[in-house]
Amino acid sequence: MSNQLVELIKNSGVVGAGGGGFPTHVKAGAQVEYILANGAECEPLIHKDVELMTHQAEAILTGLRLMMVATGATRGIVGIKKKNSAAVEAFRNVIDGTDVELLEMGDFYPAGDEYELVQLGAGRLIPPGGIPLDVGCVVCNVETLFNISAAANGDPVTHKLITVAGLVREPKTFWVPVGTRYGELLDFAGGVTVKNYALLTNGPLMGGMSQSLDDTVTKTFSGLIVLPEDHYIVSRKNRSSQQMNRIGKSACDQCTACTEFCPRYLLGYEIQPHKVMRSLGFTASGEEYWNRFSTYCCSCGLCTLYACPEDLYPREACDQAKVSMKKAEQTYRQELPPKIHPMKEYRRVPTKSLLQRLRLEKFEGATPFTTGFPNPSQLEIPLQQHVGSPSVPVVTIGAMVKAGDIIADLPDGSLGAKIHSPLCGKINSINNDSIVISVD
Ligand code: SF4
Ligand code: SF4
Repeated sequence: MSNQLVELIKNSGVVGAGGGGFPTHVKAGAQVEYILANGAECEPLIHKDVELMTHQAEAILTGLRLMMVATGATRGIVGIKKKNSAAVEAFRNVIDGTDVELLEMGDFYPAGDEYELVQLGAGRLIPPGGIPLDVGCVVCNVETLFNISAAANGDPVTHKLITVAGLVREPKTFWVPVGTRYGELLDFAGGVTVKNYALLTNGPLMGGMSQSLDDTVTKTFSGLIVLPEDHYIVSRKNRSSQQMNRIGKSACDQCTACTEFCPRYLLGYEIQPHKVMRSLGFTASGEEYWNRFSTYCCSCGLCTLYACPEDLYPREACDQAKVSMKKAEQTYRQELPPKIHPMKEYRRVPTKSLLQRLRLEKFEGATPFTTGFPNPSQLEIPLQQHVGSPSVPVVTIGAMVKAGDIIADLPDGSLGAKIHSPLCGKINSINNDSIVISVD
């Protein structure tokens, strides 16, 4: 079963749908004790996992149990926030009598960080810089598990479940063909309700900003949030890195709040963003010393968008420090095993506080699952939608493709994923970055 499922997943192009994009067939080929379904979904305003868990608990459970058989896991755990009662209920109904347990989690950020989930679900701490596999665990997002169950029936990944939230007439959650333009997502959600707006992609904390309605949906995309263009988060995210560095250099008073609230620091890893901030004011050699304290940052964004009282950018300083370290081929390894901070439970950040701090309370609301999806006339499908090497086109310009046909394959011997055509159509153009299909 193990090899068979690995092949089915590989042929279906399944990758981490929670944002990670790691090719799932590699995880299915491992031998572990635990499979953890990640349904924590903690980015405010994005609710696509909750909707999927509410409406497709059975299929997610099938994916989870297939992964358990393939990997020899004896424990299957579904991590889900207690507050999402409809999803909890849906799972209670289907896991009854199975070997799968529910892990009902509190409403805090970032409950879905895999280090956090492994600690809560399996009671194990991943070694510094390691992955769940190092402690006998595999973590899969719930949509990935849904896709695994489809792959077992030979159905490839062609559509993505997404949420459109914020200032649109009909905030909602729906499936959309990979390669669809953002503009069509907004239209499908009834259109934007204000003239001047900004688009957040994949959530306010870890996501980014889109400058173009022509950007397209990938296998790791989770949604769009429409906010007024003068919203607090938009102005925070719109600063250039030079501006972030300049204000960081002059205004950081080393209060340490960013470190005190850092979830990875609280789990016992040697990550100290306040020290990384010191790198902004140092010469090249000094910077090298302070950069090391960024090594175990997971870019959750809590330090920048919640903890820092001065509205500075410790997360971005950590991102920058990691890039500098890579360039300089500098590495850092924590010698001592991680030890949970005694204040960890008391410093958890409730989503409610986060919404207040981010001025997002009035945008939070239902985004119900809706059947049907946009009917794009064209799809632009990126060749790099996953961890590893870009996929290699296997079609030529002018070729006709059917929904589900392979249009790009894994490069030989490399980590990657196959890409399938979401709809029937004609290959319009191919370049190094993407394949464009004119839909029939
Ligand atoms: S919280 Fe802000 S001001 Fe305080 S040390 Fe961190 S970056 Fe500096
Ligand atoms: S983004 Fe900030 S809070 Fe999150 S892990 Fe990195 S340093 Fe810690």
